[in-house]
Parts: sequence; C-alpha cells; structure tokens
Amino acid sequence: MAWEIARRAAEGAGRAARTLLDVVLPPRCLACGTIVGDPGALCPECWAGVGFIAPPCCTRCGLPFAFDSGAGVECGECLRRPPAFDRARAVFRYDDASRPLILGFKHGDRTHAAPAFGAWLARAAGPLAAEAEVVVPVPLHRLRLLRRHYNQAALLALALGRRIRVPVVPDALVRKRATPSQGGLRRLGRFRNVAGAFAVPPRRRRHVDGRRVLLVDDVLTTGATVEACARALRAAGARAVDVVTLARVVRAG
Ligand SMILES: [Zn+2]
Ligand SMILES: [Zn+2]
Repeated sequence: MAWEIARRAAEGAGRAARTLLDVVLPPRCLACGTIVGDPGALCPECWAGVGFIAPPCCTRCGLPFAFDSGAGVECGECLRRPPAFDRARAVFRYDDASRPLILGFKHGDRTHAAPAFGAWLARAAGPLAAEAEVVVPVPLHRLRLLRRHYNQAALLALALGRRIRVPVVPDALVRKRATPSQGGLRRLGRFRNVAGAFAVPPRRRRHVDGRRVLLVDDVLTTGATVEACARALRAAGARAVDVVTLARVVRAG
C-alpha cells in the first residue's frame, strides 16, 4: 500500500517534471516559433505555406515541373547547359514562407532543427541518398567560420549522414580563397565568383576517389557554388556527384 502510494507519487513527480520542462522549453515551430506539439515540427500554417517540392521534376537539377511529361525528362536549362553535377534535389522552394527556416538555422538560434532537416533531406534525396557512398558539405571559408562559429551545411550533412547511415567527411572540400558573398551578384557573376574556389586537400582524396559523393548545402540559387564544388570533387576522382539542399530558388517561367 505504502509502496503503491510512493509509486504514484513518483509517477506524478515525473509527469510534473515533464510538464514543467514543456512549460519552460516547449517545442516551437521551426519557422515562426509558435508552440507546437512535437519538437522538430512546423505549425499547421507554416506547413501549409512552405512549398515542399514533389515530383514531377527535372531528372537532372530537380526543378519542379507543373505537368508530368514522363520519367527522365530534363528542363530546358539543363539541356542547354548540362550542370557539372549529376543530379540535384531540394526539400522546398526558397521563398517568403521558407526563408525564416533557412535564416533561423543559418544564424544559429535554431540549430536544434538539424535532426528534422536531416530527415527531410533524406526523403528529398531518395535514390541519391540510397546510392551515396560519402556525404560532403559545401565548406565555409575559415574567416566566415570564425565569425559564425559553425557551418550550417556541415550540420545538415552530419544530420543527413546519421539518418541514411552514410559516412560524412566534413572537411573533404576546402575553400582555397575567401569568395565575396554571392548575394547581390547576377548569374554570370556568381559563376565567376566561385570558379576554382574549392579543392579536395590531398589528405582527403582517398575519401572521394572512386566514390559517389552526395554534396549538401542549405540553398541552391544558381547552382554556381555546387557546380564549382562538383568540379573539385571530380578532379579528386569522384565517380559521381549528386546534390541535396534544403531549399532551391525556383524561377518563374
Ligand atoms: Zn509556424
Ligand atoms: Zn534541370
């Protein structure tokens, strides 16, 4: 009897502690910060607003198509100028609804979102994840790393690698020089800005040589950065380079 009372008291205390924890640190929507039921989730409004990308899409760059024109179809842009990577996929469109997700993560106040993002990346990557032999993030230059303290692409790569059980090599790629921020540059400027900016250091070549690499970044804008990375990985012997990002810019038309 006394034991039963003690057990119930202990259970009550456990519940109270959990309730207290939820009151102090309730799970919040990854985009807007509204309190939600589960950690790593979006509130219903944000969920409805974020443009998750689903097939049909360009088999090469992952650009979503308005109509299904069959499997293995490439977009006009890829046909005109085949990208340096093999395939790219993204979780959602980069727009007003998804920007808070990216910026909150980039500026460090919502790094706890990494496991949820890892799961989303794994789903978006699909066969790219299944075939990957090594996961590599787009690197941040040392100076920017110092200022920001961490590389958001590396956090995403680690979360994805854990999810799909593929080894992650965070320093397989390095920036040979600091490139000015891509923001504000037009398309051609962005390609010039990062051309030849990346390399695989000799001590990391064996992780890449002969392998299918899955390259991870937060946002795909023109593809200039991931293309420069793909060239560096191929120069180091990579057999294939696929890309997965959280967001991608989808131009109208
Ligand atoms: Zn929300
Ligand atoms: Zn395409």
